[in-house]
Order: sequence, then C-alpha cells, then structure tokens
Amino acid sequence: MSTVKWYEEALALQDQLVSWRRDFHRYPELGFQEHRTAGIVAAHLERLGMEVQTGVAETGVVGILQGREEGPTVMLRFDMDALPIEEENDVPYRSEYPGVMHACGHDGHVAIGLGVATLLARHRDQFPGQVKFIFQPAEEGLGGARRMVEAGVLDNPRPQMAFGLHLWNPLPVGQVAVQSGPFMAAAGRFEVEITGRGGHGAQPHLTVDATVVAAHVVIALQTIVSRNVDPLHPLVVSIGEMHTGSAFNVIPGQAVLRGTLRAFDTGVMQTAQARLRALAEGVAQAFGARADVLTEVIAPPVVNDPSATAIVREAARTVLSDRQVVTIEPPMVSEDVSEFLSRVPGCFFFVGARNEARGIVYGHHHPRFDIDEDALPIGVAILAQAAVKALTQLQDQNTK
Ligand SMILES: [Zn+2]
Ligand SMILES: [Zn+2]
Repeated sequence: MSTVKWYEEALALQDQLVSWRRDFHRYPELGFQEHRTAGIVAAHLERLGMEVQTGVAETGVVGILQGREEGPTVMLRFDMDALPIEEENDVPYRSEYPGVMHACGHDGHVAIGLGVATLLARHRDQFPGQVKFIFQPAEEGLGGARRMVEAGVLDNPRPQMAFGLHLWNPLPVGQVAVQSGPFMAAAGRFEVEITGRGGHGAQPHLTVDATVVAAHVVIALQTIVSRNVDPLHPLVVSIGEMHTGSAFNVIPGQAVLRGTLRAFDTGVMQTAQARLRALAEGVAQAFGARADVLTEVIAPPVVNDPSATAIVREAARTVLSDRQVVTIEPPMVSEDVSEFLSRVPGCFFFVGARNEARGIVYGHHHPRFDIDEDALPIGVAILAQAAVKALTQLQDQNTK
C-alpha cells in the first residue's frame, strides 16, 4: 500500500503547474505545429531521466518512465494543441499569438502531464513496470491521435491500460466526472456537393438551381434524427457550412454543404451515413441535379473500461470527497483519445475547472475560455495514483 500523499505533493507543485500552464497559454500552437511546447515537454521528461522520443507524428513526444522492476506498461495521454481563435481575455498570460488561443484547456493538460511525470519520477520505487507518457499533437479535428497510433506508439512496449483527462468547464472546480461505458460521442464528417446548371437569375426555367436543391437537402437531412433512428439512441446531424452562389442575379450551378455527425453507437452512425447519402442523392436527382456525397468517421466514441474506471474513481476519492466524484450525461462532443481507448482498455475522465466566483464561466472554444488553475493539482494527483494502482494491479494479475 502506497504511503505517498499524492494530493499534498501535487499541491506543493502548484506554483510550477501554474507557471507551466500560463507559459503554454501565452505561446499557443496549432495542431502539428506544437514545436515549442513539445521542446519544453521533451526537455522536462529527459531531465527526469526518461527515455524520450520526439517528432512522433510531427510534433508528438513519448517518454518512458521505468519503475522499480520489470512489469506491465500503463499509458497516460495528454494533448498539446491550441485553436484558431482570437483570445478576448484580459489576463497577464493572454495569448501572444494573434488568432491562436488555448481555448480548450490543453495548456492545462500539458502542465498536468509534466506534473504527473515529476511525481511519478520521484516515486518510481512505488510501482513496477513502466509509465508511457504520450503527448499528442493536433487533437482538435486534425487526427493527431490516429497519427500517433500509426506511428506505433502503442507498440514496444504495448500499454495494458490507458488513462487521460480533460479539464471540463461545465463542471465546477473540485468535481470530477468518472464513469464507465460510453463517455463521449463518435464524430463523423460529411460533404455534399450539388451540381445543377447555372444561368441567368431572370431565366430560372433554363437552369437547375443548386441553391434550391441544397435547401431541400438541408431540410431532408433533418429527418435522419427524427425519423430514421430510435429516439432513445442519441444522434446529431449538424450542417456547419453551406456555400452557393456569388452574384445576386445569377442562379448558381454548384452548391456545397459540410457538416458533422455525432453518435455513441456504431450502428447509429452507419445508419446516419447511409441515410445522408440516400437523401442527398435522391433529392438532387428529383430536381434534375446530382449530389456527390462524402462521409467519414473521424473519431470513434470514447468508451471507458469498467476496471480502469474503478481505478480512477478510487484515486479520485482519495483526492476529493465521494460527493465530488460525479457521473454526468455523456456529452455529444468527441475526443480523439478514443483512438487509444478503442485499442487499449482505459478511462478518460473530466476534471471540473469552472469557477463562477472568479468569472471563469465560459465554455470550451469560447474566446473568453479560461480555467480555474486549482484543477491542475487535482488532475495530477488522480492520474499519478491511477497509474501506480493500475501497474500494481496488472503486475499482480500477470504473476498469478
Ligand atoms: Zn476542444
Ligand atoms: Zn479538448
């Protein structure tokens, strides 16, 4: 039984955690461009005596921390990228880069990762095997996790369990959400290109108006959720872009729609993709136009493994009271940590970071997003303990 007081030690790191987080916040980098961030991460992991690999999937960093003896591997995942958003916060650590901002909290994730590495390196006599630290680029829709998997980060050594977290502003600081099963949705992407026949705005009868066809496709797609899928199975079909026309007196012959699909269930996602194609092609054909449809799943759902979740829950309860370890309605938001969790059993959880009293109330991806930094040591303590606990348990199972 470990006698390390993880949360106390994490709290003692708070100044360092805050300074890391604010530094990353000031110098945010977009997906696959996290060169500065990755450099700081690699230097710190090396200083702790880890074996470090850099330039994995462009800017990813992998560090391996050896425990006291040969044994299993547990992976911890952190994402590093910022968003193309102009920061509207007036804070001393405001982004120095115009149009780029850590508006999702990944700056905090990197700081937490460095904190966990610090504590686990200090206490490597507390666990067998090794902890594999994965600092991933490009979580925000650019497929960084898949690229890391393709680069082989799940091999040599292969992790037997995986953990990760997200700072989460829908939850107040001091609460964490931990639950097994479906936790975040799968994400899909689609594009519908409509080809009609353009012409003079005054001679509609000589054209096939792509705008009118696109409008009917938009309406038809609403029936996927309302008429094709069991009302008890969550699905979102959202059209985020509609491009058509360029002059007030010209009927356009081309229109393009782009949107996203979200679902927890693979079958529901497949139904949505099939219906989308059939509706778009059928509607276009009925109007004498053509629709070229492209759909793809860009991230599987995040599904938590029951035994990994039990480990996180237990770790969370040593840091916070039972009452602060909550369950929530799984959000339809997606996270590409699912690329790891669909291959390695694990648990991804949310660490509350909202604080009404301090005005930290804005949602993720908002230009005024910020986090309560008291969430940082909470994340550090939970992840460090979960890693130790998982390695100890896996070692026991392996030797039985
Ligand atoms: Zn985000
Ligand atoms: Zn995020």
